[in-house]
Amino acid sequence: MPDRHTSAARTVPAGRKSPAGPASGLQDSRLSVLLPLPLEGPYDYAAPPGQGLAPGDLVRVPLGSRELTGVVWDPDTAGPGVAAERLKPAGARIDLPGLPEPERRFVDWVASYTLAPPGAVLRMALSVPAAFEPPKPVTAYRLAAAAPEPKGLRLTPARRRVLAAAGEGPARPAAELARAAGVGSSVVKGLAAAGVLEAVVLPPPAAFQAPDWRQPGPALTTAQAAASEELRGQAARGGFAVTLLDGVTGSGKTEVYFEALAAALAAGRQVLVLLPEIALSAQWLERFKRRFEARPAEWHSDLTAVQRRRTWRAVALGEARVVVGARSALFLPYQDLGLIVVDEEHDTSFKQEDGVVYHARDMAVVRARLGDFPVVLVSATPSLETATNVEAGRYGRLRLPERHGSAGLPRVELVDLRRDPPPRLEGAGQSWLSPALRRALAETFEAGEQALLFLNRRGFAPLTLCRTCGHRLQCPNCIAWLVEHRLAGRLECHHCGHRAALPVRCPGCDAEGSLAACGPGVERLAEEVKALFPGQVTALMSSDSISGPAAAEALVRAVQQREIDLLIGTQIVAKGHHFPWLTLVGVVDGDLGLSGGDLRAAERTYQLLHQVAGRAGRAERPGRVLIQTYEPEHPVMQALASSATDARDRFLETEADARRRAAMPPFARLAAVILSDPDQRRVDEACRRLSRTRPRREGIEILGPAPAPLAVLRGRHRRRFLLRTRRDVAPQGVLRDWLAAVDLPRQTRLQIDVDPYSFL
Ligand code: ADP
Ligand code: ZN
Repeated sequence: MPDRHTSAARTVPAGRKSPAGPASGLQDSRLSVLLPLPLEGPYDYAAPPGQGLAPGDLVRVPLGSRELTGVVWDPDTAGPGVAAERLKPAGARIDLPGLPEPERRFVDWVASYTLAPPGAVLRMALSVPAAFEPPKPVTAYRLAAAAPEPKGLRLTPARRRVLAAAGEGPARPAAELARAAGVGSSVVKGLAAAGVLEAVVLPPPAAFQAPDWRQPGPALTTAQAAASEELRGQAARGGFAVTLLDGVTGSGKTEVYFEALAAALAAGRQVLVLLPEIALSAQWLERFKRRFEARPAEWHSDLTAVQRRRTWRAVALGEARVVVGARSALFLPYQDLGLIVVDEEHDTSFKQEDGVVYHARDMAVVRARLGDFPVVLVSATPSLETATNVEAGRYGRLRLPERHGSAGLPRVELVDLRRDPPPRLEGAGQSWLSPALRRALAETFEAGEQALLFLNRRGFAPLTLCRTCGHRLQCPNCIAWLVEHRLAGRLECHHCGHRAALPVRCPGCDAEGSLAACGPGVERLAEEVKALFPGQVTALMSSDSISGPAAAEALVRAVQQREIDLLIGTQIVAKGHHFPWLTLVGVVDGDLGLSGGDLRAAERTYQLLHQVAGRAGRAERPGRVLIQTYEPEHPVMQALASSATDARDRFLETEADARRRAAMPPFARLAAVILSDPDQRRVDEACRRLSRTRPRREGIEILGPAPAPLAVLRGRHRRRFLLRTRRDVAPQGVLRDWLAAVDLPRQTRLQIDVDPYSFL
């Protein structure tokens, strides 16, 4: 690994004199600048005189033939690595507040925990370079105050319409005015040139509106009030604390953490709320707006370039007071972050799997510790990690045991598919709905209520098989089956995105018309339902049918307005929606998540199905949940169906025991090392080299190498090592020493995943 004191000066070709730094030898003339590139550490530059650059400042610096923006990093105690007179001078300071100390320490911390280069972490914080410059002034047009007689200007109908439009409303940019008048922008420009319209420079668009924290919330129940008081106190005082807000779905957790948010805002601090699937959280945004009379700043992958730029700047300038976002919102340049809420803390989408591999919930706790403020983890089904931290007294816990108002928790019934299988249909058609679930659907529709069928499988069928030779349609780049998406009319690989047309003949034996869909996806389920209940309106909700926030919002509204009788969805329906008329939830394949040997399979299945079940009966009408399973005696199914109030905690205890006995997280630490290469022999050679130098000592164990379950992904052969250490041994140091001592083939890619959640 390169030494931390590599310097930009080294990129100067030999024989050429590098620009000399001023006052050579003086420590304060040397500037450590971290660049948003996967480099091992900051580079040294000569401080330009008279600029008074301080740590955290954004600064332009040269690198090779390029110029880019980095952050002045804290002076290194290791001492200078490059002679001062060989340093290149840094350029101009960017006119923005920069990264405060806790943000800089956070970047370093995340880098050292995940073993990512600090510059790669900084790149997540500086993800919108366009935001470094102030927005360009916008020119708008209005009727000229002293409009000259449009001499020699023929008033065509188009021009008349523009003048009419300009007469109404404020000055508008040419394109907007043209659109309002139904003409091209050139007509507007022409009128401006003739002096009939005048140009004015608009002030920058209004910054984010400040949420009004003085607005009162609803009257709270006793349990809610107690929880709220504690969290309000924490947020008002500041100081590091981690609290699990633990309450069943619909118990008012959101209302309670809104109180904490109000207290943090009252204390003048910025707030971050992390939500899984923020793009689908229209209802949450609506609620926030009602309560605080302003929209929060949103941060997720569906923002436009303009929105990203505006939001990044507003966070840096402290104008955005509340940010609600996906995991990457953790790295925005907050000036004064004072509270983080992680809603649905157990959700696995908080784990980022590529680039810098990190878990946003865990890093949120770190960020709060570095910033010395509270963090609230919210869930109805806490992760075993969090539950264990509560048990050990490291995290606090506030409980909300009951659903708000008259709503009770839904009754969960297990449908034993061995005894009550879906009926065999005439002809080739297959069925996935048992008689019990069909009856429940009919009763629900009869009562004029809504139902939800949950199946966590996108597309029509997960596998296409040749009935003649048994050939299975496989992705050419991955060891994975191609999934038929009938609505889109194609096959798709869910791992690499490869698409292909469904062949007419079997690629294996050339038989025609012998390819058969195996197993159900949501599209196939929709076909069965349509045949069974032709009178009901059904809608699909999966990442294929919901393309973005607007589509999600429209669908959610349609369900709320009871335009839809039956929703068929993948896991995206599980999240946070509140549908008062939805009283039946049917889980089509309860066992789906239990296979596959994932360490957290049982825990995840419990969380997901519990959350889906929580969609039923959220208002006055009691809810009912049917889970179809071949293993009704499985502890997960038993816990889901139990009406005992401590069923969840007992399930978590059982899980904890199993993990403790197996020496698995959270009672041990894991880190995965994944090697991949297009060439299989080379990746195996890389494995041999790593194997030869594997560290052997007390408290650590290295498993593997083994082919990854997805042994070929995107054309690369993959091998995994798994490092397991005792809880009191940090895997980072072990990995660093081990990997530094091995020379890997240049083409072999190495990825490190500390605390892995995916074992594919
Ligand atoms: P959770 O976040 O635990 O799922 P929510 O905060 O979404 O629960 O509450 C469920 C529903 O009950 C929401 O519609 C919410 O507005 C309502 N609610 C919760 N607490 C109160 C309260 N004290 N007064 C009025 N409505 C409440
Ligand atoms: Zn693929």
